[in-house]
Amino acid sequence: DAGGGSFIYHLENNQVYVGFVVHLNYANPHLYPYMEFQRFKHHPLIAELLQGGKRIAYGARAIAEGGWQSMPKLTFPGGVLLGCAAGMVNVPRIKGNHNAMLSGIAAAEAAHAALAAGRQGDELDAYASAVKWGPIGRDLRPVRNVKPLWSRLGLSASLLLGGADMWINTLFGNQSPLGDMKHGKSDADATGRADRHPPIAYPKPDGVLSFDRLTNVAFSFTNHAEEQPSHLVLKDPDVPIEINLPRFAEPAQRYCPAGVYEVLRDADGSNPRFQINFQNCVHCKTCDIKDPSGNIVWTTPQGGDGPNYPNM
Ligand SMILES: Cc1cc2nc3c(=O)[nH]c(=O)nc-3n(C[C@H](O)[C@H](O)[C@H](O)COP(=O)(O)OP(=O)(O)OC[C@H]3O[C@@H](n4cnc5c(N)ncnc54)[C@H](O)[C@@H]3O)c2cc1C
Ligand code: SF4
Repeated sequence: DAGGGSFIYHLENNQVYVGFVVHLNYANPHLYPYMEFQRFKHHPLIAELLQGGKRIAYGARAIAEGGWQSMPKLTFPGGVLLGCAAGMVNVPRIKGNHNAMLSGIAAAEAAHAALAAGRQGDELDAYASAVKWGPIGRDLRPVRNVKPLWSRLGLSASLLLGGADMWINTLFGNQSPLGDMKHGKSDADATGRADRHPPIAYPKPDGVLSFDRLTNVAFSFTNHAEEQPSHLVLKDPDVPIEINLPRFAEPAQRYCPAGVYEVLRDADGSNPRFQINFQNCVHCKTCDIKDPSGNIVWTTPQGGDGPNYPNM
């Protein structure tokens, strides 16, 4: 019942980037995105490509796909939100670099004009206006209904209807019979109860094409000084074991691509305890988005700490 996709980029020196996307509005809390990715690499078409290769890097990132109708207020006194911090990805094109750059240009121009006029530390309304009426707005407004349609109707139907909607928007100045569709439930609220969804058995990684999570995390070269407080903050430390474990089989154990969250038990299976291995975090922000109780807050760790992706 989960949406998603995959990509393969071919690079120089016989290198490939293999990517696997899981939409975080999935309902089955037993779903294990990392293991779905490992399984994907055993598809004959992918396995053939990777055969004889060497793993050189691993990483993970949440992509904000809310689009135009999910963008927050872009300005605050003395600052602005740009690019992916503001959710400027064009979902049907699966591209965000262009809007990240355009937003940087628009913000710099607005800041320059403000400084030239002797204004400092106020809100750059000209930036918000440039995003709304400039190339970013023209890029994102016509495609605003594609993701809500995909979530509601699945891939095939949304391709047809979403395509028609984009065409109508382009022809009629962003007017659509569908209006501005909303996204429905948050990804956290979309998570269903564990006893209403089947557990999923994943094949064991073979150590050749597929690998266990912790050895892969080593290839993100992430680093956090051990003595700092955890940057992953629980609003209520009792929620993981008292609520998330019985209701959702504590999905943090599976949705985190770095194995940061563990439920430890005594040898006889009793006394469950929630452990946060914050040193392994690759800063993807999935926990802040997907925790069904909204109990995890991702905060900024000590400066410079985090993943150090080579070639990514
Ligand atoms: C797997 C994947 C594939 C993609 N493929 C494409 C594609 O083919 N084409 C395309 O156009 N877009 C693609 N995108 C989207 C694109 O990468 C983003 O839209 C774009 O990078 C957003 O740019 P940004 O500058 O807003 O944010 P980012 O590129 O995320 O840059 C933010 C920077 O801020 C740094 N940072 C964060 N916190 C701090 C801090 N506290 N102090 C200092 N620095 C900090 C981060 O390390 C990072 O370098 C892809 C995204 C993903 C995840
Ligand atoms: S702890 Fe959260 S942000 Fe860090 S890797 Fe895991 S899911 Fe991503």
